Amino acid sequence: MGGAVTRAAALDWGAARLAEAGIDTPRLEARLLLAHALGVDAATLLADRAAPLAASDYHRLIERRAARVPLAYLLGTREFWSLPFAVSPATLIPRPDSETVVEAALAAAPAPPSGRGLRVLDLGTGTGCLLLSLLSEWPDAWGLGVDVVPSACALAAGNAAALGLAGRAAFLCADWDAALRGRFDVIVANPPYIPRDTIAALMPEVARHEPASALNGGADGLDPYRRLLPTLSALLAPGGVAVFEHGADQAAALADLAARWGFDADPRRDLAGLARAVVLRPAGT
Ligand code: GLN
Repeated sequence: MGGAVTRAAALDWGAARLAEAGIDTPRLEARLLLAHALGVDAATLLADRAAPLAASDYHRLIERRAARVPLAYLLGTREFWSLPFAVSPATLIPRPDSETVVEAALAAAPAPPSGRGLRVLDLGTGTGCLLLSLLSEWPDAWGLGVDVVPSACALAAGNAAALGLAGRAAFLCADWDAALRGRFDVIVANPPYIPRDTIAALMPEVARHEPASALNGGADGLDPYRRLLPTLSALLAPGGVAVFEHGADQAAALADLAARWGFDADPRRDLAGLARAVVLRPAGT
């Protein structure tokens, strides 16, 4: 697009470009990207429709979105549990599905032992969204987020600080099963659970731009649970529970696996009605 353009014209152009690239909500996304590029609020963006488009990153952002870079990476942020989380291509973008894990953990957590708040462990913390959402709900809780990707730990620590939770959240850059000590009342995880060979068929935003480290769960997608389950009983405090996210068709296989390691599995559904998370408790407790 050339010549002197107004905000309104820039928006029309961007929406058309995104529609042509197969984006489902082109006008909304063009508006969010224009507001982001101009550093203004999306709600007031068009109060001055005829304002000339100031020099900005807008065209580059539209072209990157047309190339199916996820909107959240372009905006640098995504809301989860009504909290803002900084995101980066080093981590999975928080998804509404994962709020099922937060809800299940809130409902299933034991009462805090006398004298201290709950201790929470988040394995594969990414942006920190599961851990930090729980800490925001439990003012006395303390939590540890573990991630093997160094820039994910840094991002999660930044999110903790931005949410005023840095004093109650620590992050450890390590493998889940390496060097973890301690007992936790609540253990949450949204591990990579997509079967390796099916990743390429996911939406291009996911398949091409989100990190394989957050998606690839091995041949059947269950490899991370095979690593998590053996460590679980040593990490759970008495009365503690674990809540794991999983793929919609993995509930039965995961319950079997959990039973082999001595855990009862209580399934939880997401808003779409799909089995999405499981609450694990030592069998018979
Ligand atoms: N729910 C994500 C998706 O389907 C995958 C998340 C994961 O593997 N933990 O894209």
